[in-house]
Amino acid sequence: MDARTRRTMQEMVSQLTEWVKTLARDSQEVRSVQQANQLERRVREEGLQMLGNMFEMLLQNALDHQPPERICPNCSRPRRHKGCRPRGLLSSIGAVRVSGIYWYCPYCGIPDHGLRRASLRREGARIGDGLGDYRGAETARRRQWLTIERR
Ligand SMILES: [Zn+2]
Repeated sequence: MDARTRRTMQEMVSQLTEWVKTLARDSQEVRSVQQANQLERRVREEGLQMLGNMFEMLLQNALDHQPPERICPNCSRPRRHKGCRPRGLLSSIGAVRVSGIYWYCPYCGIPDHGLRRASLRREGARIGDGLGDYRGAETARRRQWLTIERR
């Protein structure tokens, strides 16, 4: 585990610890069914938010570890690095926002963001072996993710 991953892990543990402390402290004051129900709702809603935060941090860590892939998966020619750009996506545990390298191929005009590769890898698909695979993987991605472009 490298330093960046360790920082990500420490941040997740620290957020989780704070949340658990707050819940444990507040649980001492529960005296009624109504208060127990409120606590249950908080655990569910805040827990989901917590999971979303964790997923966002993990996905950012994944993007931070991607080796730069300058070669276009479509035409195998060098692409242009257009800087790091934020990108949002709606996951099954809520909306997340991460930053990754934005590539642009001047030959075939295909834009690409590190997030797309991370999503493809998650599904076990692979890209880089020609247009067929590229399009197939992209279709698979669209079924799984709703990406929100922010340029
Ligand atoms: Zn290309």
